[in-house]
Amino acid sequence: MSDLAIVGAGLGGLSLALALQQAGQACTLVERAPELTEVGAGIQLGPHVMRRLYGWGLKEALHERIALPEALEARDALRGTQLATLPLGSYCEQRYGAPYATVHRADLQAALLRAVEQGGNTVLRLNTPCSSWVEQHDGVTLELASVSALAPGQTLAQGQGAATQTSPAKVPLHASALIGADGLWSRVRASGWALPEPVSTGHLAYRAMVPQALLPERLRSQTVTVWMGPHLHLVTYPVRQGEWLNVVVLMQAQDTHHPLTPGWDLARHPHDMAADLQAAMRGCCAGVRDLLSMIEQWRVWPLFVRDTLAGPDQMARGHVALLGDAAHPMLPYLAQGAGMAMEDADCLAQCWTQTDLTIPQRLHRYAVARWQRNARVQLQSRRNADIFHATGWMRWGRDLGLKLMGQRLMDQPWLFSG
Ligand SMILES: Cc1cc2nc3c(=O)[nH]c(=O)nc-3n(C[C@H](O)[C@H](O)[C@H](O)COP(=O)(O)OP(=O)(O)OC[C@H]3O[C@@H](n4cnc5c(N)ncnc54)[C@H](O)[C@@H]3O)c2cc1C
Repeated sequence: MSDLAIVGAGLGGLSLALALQQAGQACTLVERAPELTEVGAGIQLGPHVMRRLYGWGLKEALHERIALPEALEARDALRGTQLATLPLGSYCEQRYGAPYATVHRADLQAALLRAVEQGGNTVLRLNTPCSSWVEQHDGVTLELASVSALAPGQTLAQGQGAATQTSPAKVPLHASALIGADGLWSRVRASGWALPEPVSTGHLAYRAMVPQALLPERLRSQTVTVWMGPHLHLVTYPVRQGEWLNVVVLMQAQDTHHPLTPGWDLARHPHDMAADLQAAMRGCCAGVRDLLSMIEQWRVWPLFVRDTLAGPDQMARGHVALLGDAAHPMLPYLAQGAGMAMEDADCLAQCWTQTDLTIPQRLHRYAVARWQRNARVQLQSRRNADIFHATGWMRWGRDLGLKLMGQRLMDQPWLFSG
């Protein structure tokens, strides 16, 4: 019997494999993709996430690639004026014991993967979708469409080589427990639990990255900047040691050409996307418009969510638990989806080592410890959508509040201390 089986080697699944490894536990990590790649996009990691990544031994590896922004700024997207600022850098380190960092997703994934590989006790099965599972009294049997099954005892590094050998059999895998870390459209969730599927929010995320060296001096930045406008906002921050600028535009789709269907919109030509975006942002200040005009290649991602978690049984039942987006997808308006997946991983690895408990008890303890914090972050992310995209009196009140109490409103002790 395999120990614990994780479905999905995204940021959440890899983090769990690493956290388990640090606790001396082996696992099998099953991933449907033939290789682990990440889109060209950035990710923000608060001090609560950095503390965990440091705890897993990734400090040195990450510091070769991350950026450490000096501040978080809120600006009016129409006028360009600064509304408030929160120092990050040493303020964050002193207050929360770790920095606020920004990183290219591929760099974070590579650091996690390398650490998992070096540990040697994770079996990775690439190109192996899990289609369903059945629970028994002593564990779970997964049905895998395996084209890269490893011999018993074969480890991650060998497994990646084996991914090229194809044998399209349906392979059962019996595990003592199953963790669904398989993202928003989780098969683990859908095939065993009667929970509602994700729904479209009508919001779109346009994402791009640009080398700062190609930008005029006035458009370069080493801060996280949130530009707020009616029905939209823009976030910019440095990645790759400050050499690239990550740019995300989030907007409520109005007169859009994009179908609100899951996944990247690959149908529309990148130049047409750039034109759509410039049209949608035409009321914005010159700084925003100039920055957008420097970017030719955008990718657009429609945003889906599920209802806020309502109890621990939506994260764990018997020998099965969910982690990350599979359990609690959220709008990216607090920049916490991956962060919460990593917190889940840290907590689940700790619960897993409580061998005085039965396996269902360990997973239940994980769900009890995690669901309320995840639900709070989901709710705050939704609230931020209304705040960031406010119009009329609400926008006026938001701006006044930020001007009077900016640092207090932007700091998040409940989140960063957790
Ligand atoms: C525009 C935008 C900006 C964001 N910015 C931030 C940010 O700044 N900070 C932050 O913390 N978060 C951010 N997020 C959220 C973050 O990207 C996600 O929450 C996070 O990546 C979720 O990780 P995950 O491992 O749970 O799921 P995923 O990354 O979706 O990984 C799931 C994995 O499971 C695999 N899989 C799926 N189905 C199967 C199957 N049947 N069998 C086997 N494998 C399967 C997939 O191939 C994938 O590898 C942002 C999101 C968006 C859209």
